[in-house]
Amino acid sequence: MKIAVVGTGYVGLVTGTCFAETGNNVVCIDINEEKVAQMKSGVIPIYEPHLDVLFERNIREGRLTFSTDLAASIVDAQIIFLALPTPPGEDGSADLSYVLGVAKQLGSLISDYKIIVDKSTVPVGTAELVNNAIAENAKVQFDVVSNPEFLREGFAVDDFMKPDRVVIGTRSERAKQLMNELYKPFTRQGNPIIFMDERSAELTKYAANAFLATKISFMNEIANFCEKVGADVDMVRLGIGTDDRIGKRFLFPGMGYGGSCFPKDVQALAKSGNDSGYEFKILKSVMKVNERQKTTLLKPILDYFNNSLTHTKIAIWGLAFKPDTDDIREAPALYMIEHLLEAGATIVAYDPEAMPNVQKQKGYAITYARDAYEALEGADALLICTEWGMFRNPDFDKIGKALKSKVIFDGRNLYELDKMQELGFFYKSIGRSTVNND
Ligand code: NAD
Repeated sequence: MKIAVVGTGYVGLVTGTCFAETGNNVVCIDINEEKVAQMKSGVIPIYEPHLDVLFERNIREGRLTFSTDLAASIVDAQIIFLALPTPPGEDGSADLSYVLGVAKQLGSLISDYKIIVDKSTVPVGTAELVNNAIAENAKVQFDVVSNPEFLREGFAVDDFMKPDRVVIGTRSERAKQLMNELYKPFTRQGNPIIFMDERSAELTKYAANAFLATKISFMNEIANFCEKVGADVDMVRLGIGTDDRIGKRFLFPGMGYGGSCFPKDVQALAKSGNDSGYEFKILKSVMKVNERQKTTLLKPILDYFNNSLTHTKIAIWGLAFKPDTDDIREAPALYMIEHLLEAGATIVAYDPEAMPNVQKQKGYAITYARDAYEALEGADALLICTEWGMFRNPDFDKIGKALKSKVIFDGRNLYELDKMQELGFFYKSIGRSTVNND
């Protein structure tokens, strides 16, 4: 099949590359000329495990190309995917200007039947808006389909190639058949392609993200309560996660959810509710809990250093909003950096992939280390913000020697309390008792 993907970010690039991997001819379009030039020269613009191999192979075999020219790129395409940003607008609702702007252009560009697919996360009713925007200028038939994307950054290729399910919102038989054909190679193991109407598909995506965010905030509240009453959240997590009805995943307490999706999607769903005269009480609490959780380690740090960080150097491990990505959107580490700087601390940070993005986008007055241990040299404490695999089993001897004193604030509960006690660290994690060797 011939496919065009408009918007070549995390979702567009993974979508385009994976469709090419199953034999389709894909052109990925983006307005960012620098990014397109980079991709044309074979350089992948994001860090996403396993994507590079597929990216290189499909470029080499001529199935994956890149362009800034929307008009020329969609001429032959049977299906046009919109993988455009839907950032939060000022009032918290999803900003549809990117999606509707391209839809409007497509109306005057299409000259034969096309399927236009919303892959962006969009509020209920957007398929109709996209349909109307195209219809304003279109002289040919087309169908608008809602096909929300559930991939997780860090696992995006696996999630796309072997999705738990594919959700397709359309009432057009013609579109249904083509979409079914396109996705068949991805569901050979029997995972379902679920067809539904456009509105239900749009809401499915928001409901999924809002549910997961709720699970995270719930667990963070349980963790905070554990600290008050002397319970261990990791034990509670194991105790409840073994119940099939609850499930083991998304029960890890930490520094709150971040990233490009959960914060904006929970906010947008709550706003959609308001606009329709429905108050999502749960979502409001989920957001409040998350706001507080992002800086939950700030008070313990201030307490430890007697409320004065002016002569304190903090080493931070992890800047990305989660491991295995270089994405820093809404990363809890950034909130901690801002507060710590404000309190007068000096910061040295290390992240295996996300440092260039922080440097480029944030311009913080902090230092970046070449490796995890260099960051610790002469620091008064280590703060762990992202659970990269390399931080899970570090050389504690080296940590102890590099730090001025053996102090760790761990926002991801990476280490056993007994071990930290034995090694003589001060160790503050989330929802567990503090190990205090002072
Ligand atoms: P992104 O910001 O990484 O990428 C968007 C791309 O679109 C950018 O490269 C930008 O230059 C390009 N763009 C903007 N305007 C354009 C235009 N007029 N024409 C062509 N290109 C244009 O965004 P993303 O993370 O890929 O997210 C895209 C959508 O998918 C959002 O709605 C998001 O909520 C949703 N989503 C994201 C994820 C994720 O993990 N990132 C997962 C599921 C769904």
